[in-house]
Amino acid sequence: MNNTVWMNQLSWVDYQTRVQQDQPPVLLPVGALEQHGPHLPLGTDGLLSSAVAADTAALVGGLVAPTLSYGYKSQPKCGGGQHFCGTTSVDAATLIGQVRDAVREFARHGLTKLVIVNGHYENQWFLIEGIDLGLRDLGPDAKLQVMRLEYWDFMTPDTLGDVFRDGFPGFALEHAAVLETSMMLHYHPNLVRMDLLSDDGPADFPPYDMYPPRTDWVPASGVLSSAKDSDAVKGKLLADEVARRMAEALRSGFERPVQ
Ligand code: ZN
Ligand code: MN
Repeated sequence: MNNTVWMNQLSWVDYQTRVQQDQPPVLLPVGALEQHGPHLPLGTDGLLSSAVAADTAALVGGLVAPTLSYGYKSQPKCGGGQHFCGTTSVDAATLIGQVRDAVREFARHGLTKLVIVNGHYENQWFLIEGIDLGLRDLGPDAKLQVMRLEYWDFMTPDTLGDVFRDGFPGFALEHAAVLETSMMLHYHPNLVRMDLLSDDGPADFPPYDMYPPRTDWVPASGVLSSAKDSDAVKGKLLADEVARRMAEALRSGFERPVQ
């Protein structure tokens, strides 16, 4: 049998056999189509969540479902905002509905372990709502359990200390900066244009939001802090740690059966 981790490369017959014999966790990456500065592609969030999902699946005998590639609306303080050409977002109800449908469909396959791997900050609460509504649809006798995670939460302070010698600016400002750029240099070096790095300084936001958004708060490049210290070695360090620790989480998180 085809032993790929990618669900969409299996026939339904092979998929059914895998589900019935092994009860594999299925990882569902979620991303966004969102500007990531002049040097990274619009699909960075989904490319990274699916790449770490695939590495994790390989460690635990799991499968990776096709990525939900459109995310919730980009916010100025963590993704630059909706005013950039190319950023293409969905309403909250759309994302909630996609996740709710996925929960119901994967349960129908007889799956017991679904893992939602988020790669776009703004998605978080709508993924939670989709999972909640999906499980509510299934009712109390469902055998499916769902794990939800943001992949960057699996980076340890030790590793972040090695990557950021001058101090870590925080995950929100890391948009299109050292973490994402280094991980893209590791996974997709041909998609990164290091010759186009912007020298915009770190964004400096006030502690409130305005609607309509103040686009002049956001650096014109869309990069929220510098990516100049990015390299593939840092990317591999981060990617390997994330996959290893996500695999541990999958082994321990699903240990308890549904009560
Ligand atoms: Zn991103
Ligand atoms: Mn994003």
